[in-house]
Amino acid sequence: MSLIDGKAIAAKINEESRLAVAELQARGVTPGLAVVLVGSDPASQAYVRSKDAMCQKLGMYSEKYELPAETTQAELLARVRALNTNPAIHGILVQSPPPPHIDERAVVEAIDPRKDVDGFHPVNVAKLTLGDPDGFVPCTPLGCQRLLIESGIETAGAHVVVLGRSMIVGKPLALLLMNKGRGGDATVTVAHSRTRNLAEVTRAADILIAAIGRPEFVQVDMVREGAVVIDVGINRVAAPESPKGSKLVGDVAFAEVAPKCRAITPVPGGVGPMTIAMLMANTIESCWRSTGRGRGS
Ligand code: NAP
Repeated sequence: MSLIDGKAIAAKINEESRLAVAELQARGVTPGLAVVLVGSDPASQAYVRSKDAMCQKLGMYSEKYELPAETTQAELLARVRALNTNPAIHGILVQSPPPPHIDERAVVEAIDPRKDVDGFHPVNVAKLTLGDPDGFVPCTPLGCQRLLIESGIETAGAHVVVLGRSMIVGKPLALLLMNKGRGGDATVTVAHSRTRNLAEVTRAADILIAAIGRPEFVQVDMVREGAVVIDVGINRVAAPESPKGSKLVGDVAFAEVAPKCRAITPVPGGVGPMTIAMLMANTIESCWRSTGRGRGS
């Protein structure tokens, strides 16, 4: 069994990003990311701060807006529109979930698709569906695909089972892996809470990707011998033995499942660090495009 070290792979990608930022700066442009948070949810605040800190680490420009929970829909839309026309900003992210009085769909649709580095705007969803590489792909699915590529795990012709069908992870990941090209060409099955004989479905996977938000749901009998397992889940559970009283676990029962796998990601230290690395990479890509040069050109 080999452990897929998301931390090390993310560090490599961040180093590439740092070099790309330096190259862009030499051309007179600095990639800029704006992160907008409405309300004071502690987990969201931590995410926003870590994104801001990563921008600084890579030499990028960042703007962070921590708006009060009473911010109106109109005020939030006005903030997004101002960022759309700000030439120093190449990526805009509105931290999810917003307070209940905010229509998240409308906010996402207000973001200029060329700055939608989260990849949730309908134009970018359509581009992913069409296999058009000019869009932006959501960061967590992109990070999962990159983990497979960097670990030398062939997806072409492989049977991938994606457990979960959310718009943030499962659905875009299934599209990404079935699209043609490097890190794609897989035969993809998507399973969810209505799937019958779930263990039979997951056991058929060469590559099993769990993204359901249920602590240690995937048990050893659900995994084929020699499978590759990518665990997207991040679940906080009680742990009286830990000084904090809680710990993070994935959607996979790691200790039992790992010995059966060809390769597996840990939680934490697997998919998690990749998400932020891909957000930075998407923002840099948006900056390249603003100069008239895109990825790989
Ligand atoms: P979500 O929106 O709640 O979606 C969960 C999906 O799992 C749904 O499609 C649901 O099916 C399915 N599901 C739930 N219980 C199931 C069961 N018992 N059997 C089969 N399918 C089941 O969650 P999400 O946003 O995709 O996130 C999933 C997990 O990934 C969470 O732990 C989250 O914290 C984590 N996550 C991690 C990162 C990262 O950076 N590593 C990023 C995003 C999310 P239905 O559609 O039928 O309800």
